[in-house]
Amino acid sequence: MFVAYDQLNDRLGPLATTPPDELGIVLVEAPAKARRRPYHRQKLALVLTNLRHFALEQAARGVAVRHVVADGDYASALAPIARELGPLIAMEPAERELRQDLAPLVANGALELVRHDGWLTTPEEFRAWTGAPPWRMDAFYRGARKARDILIERGQPVGGRWSHDVDNRQPWKGSPVAPIAPRFAPDEITDEVCALIERTMADHPGALDPGALPATAADAAALWRHAQDACLPSFGPYEDAMSTRSGTLFHTQISALVNLHRLLPREVIADALALPDLPLASREGFVRQVLGWREFVRHVHRETDGFRALPGQTPTRDADPSILGADRPLPPAFWGARSNLACLDRVVAQVWATGYSHHITRLMVLSNIAQLLDVSPRALTDWFWVAYTDAYDWVVEPNVLGMGTFAAGDVMTTKPYVAGAAYTARMSDYCKGCAFDPKRTCPLTRMYWAYLARHHDALAETGRMVMPLASLRKRSAAERAADAEVFASVSAALAAGEPLA
Ligand SMILES: Cc1cc2nc3c(=O)[nH]c(=O)nc-3n(C[C@H](O)[C@H](O)[C@H](O)COP(=O)(O)OP(=O)(O)OC[C@H]3O[C@@H](n4cnc5c(N)ncnc54)[C@H](O)[C@@H]3O)c2cc1C
Ligand code: SF4
Repeated sequence: MFVAYDQLNDRLGPLATTPPDELGIVLVEAPAKARRRPYHRQKLALVLTNLRHFALEQAARGVAVRHVVADGDYASALAPIARELGPLIAMEPAERELRQDLAPLVANGALELVRHDGWLTTPEEFRAWTGAPPWRMDAFYRGARKARDILIERGQPVGGRWSHDVDNRQPWKGSPVAPIAPRFAPDEITDEVCALIERTMADHPGALDPGALPATAADAAALWRHAQDACLPSFGPYEDAMSTRSGTLFHTQISALVNLHRLLPREVIADALALPDLPLASREGFVRQVLGWREFVRHVHRETDGFRALPGQTPTRDADPSILGADRPLPPAFWGARSNLACLDRVVAQVWATGYSHHITRLMVLSNIAQLLDVSPRALTDWFWVAYTDAYDWVVEPNVLGMGTFAAGDVMTTKPYVAGAAYTARMSDYCKGCAFDPKRTCPLTRMYWAYLARHHDALAETGRMVMPLASLRKRSAAERAADAEVFASVSAALAAGEPLA
């Protein structure tokens, strides 16, 4: 059996159902895949050290393991093994890129794909629960909750509401104390992996921090234990908060391990449901992320061939949609050049230091500012793809193209997520250390109005934009001219890599 780099769990698929002494697995390291994009070095180390530890863990339980370092792609690494041993099986890869890579082997019978046992819902269920596009997460999530009988009482949602989002919008003022994730003592395998990456991927960006790498199944369990004990109790209320005092707050930081299947979605949901005394807002909030959003974006990616075949739009070869015509390059500030926008500089620094930032910083700082600058959605997607340790095509493309930039219109969200300084000032303490004042001088507010003005016609049919567009129309001509001027000068300075004055 071929086990892909993101299927590293023996409680999954054929690995779970075949006795270890009857099982042989092939694991492939493909340096060419690592070089395909300038991936953050922490991500490369995370994937590689987990793959190598998984090989040893499987060998230790009696599975025959063949660990291959490929010269080229996955198909050319597996073809000779299939010729030698006979046809292989594999769980269908989550990643479109890997499915494409393996397609010739599937076509010639050298590889048989079986269902990926890690997903919690099927494409048929997605279609039944959401109907025709545009697709809505709420409808999908209600369907999934009912079908799996999760937080349901007598056919109704526990607590009387499907979503407790409205209770989950509190800023964080420093209390309760934000937890700090556990560190992991690197063993000789992690050390070897880090040395390999330092040596062979020296041109890749991002800091390598071996002590922040959960590498074994036990490390993954320890991180998840920490998340249950220290993060989940306050997860819900502070889900949307941002802070200079904690870049992680009460977020679990499990996404990279869930996407590698070191942690299983069904198990983290079951564990969260079993936690005694977990407030409903946190319990439901966490279930919505994993059963709702995570599954939903995967289905949208599948239905749209990774945003290349969108309903009602002309297919694009490279998933480069932008209904708003946004086509500017990503400014150097995303690669670490100082912008003087404290929110942007802080989150970018965190990402290059760790390969992580939480959801609201991804959406309301990075994606928001990129949208206000009319950055090409594809350019932003590619940046997220290389910068985050949890990024793979099936999850990064819908999140950035669908949610973060409205590139495909209302296909999966009801409006673009754009805001001026008021949102950041309310939900974070970033503004306190900023060169700008959120009420008077922050350029993001004028850029927000300039965005609405530029895209007025394209957004006029978007229901949830009616109010903001009505407010825009009340702005005087002088205000609108000043908005456009700020957009032009900020865009020019950031494009040149200059800090804003
Ligand atoms: C612009 C943008 C880009 C993103 N890119 C990625 C990405 O490349 N990879 C990725 O895994 N997530 C991505 N997300 C979704 C989400 O931000 C991350 O899953 C989350 O921040 C991971 O941190 P966490 O484990 O602490 O999550 P928590 O806040 O603790 O949430 C728990 C879990 O819910 C799941 N989850 C929550 N929201 C989503 C979502 N929208 N899509 C998929 N899973 C979700 C994750 O498995 C996560 O670990 C993106 C979101 C945005 C807005
Ligand atoms: S004042 Fe504006 S640029 Fe500065 S941190 Fe606040 S929102 Fe960001």
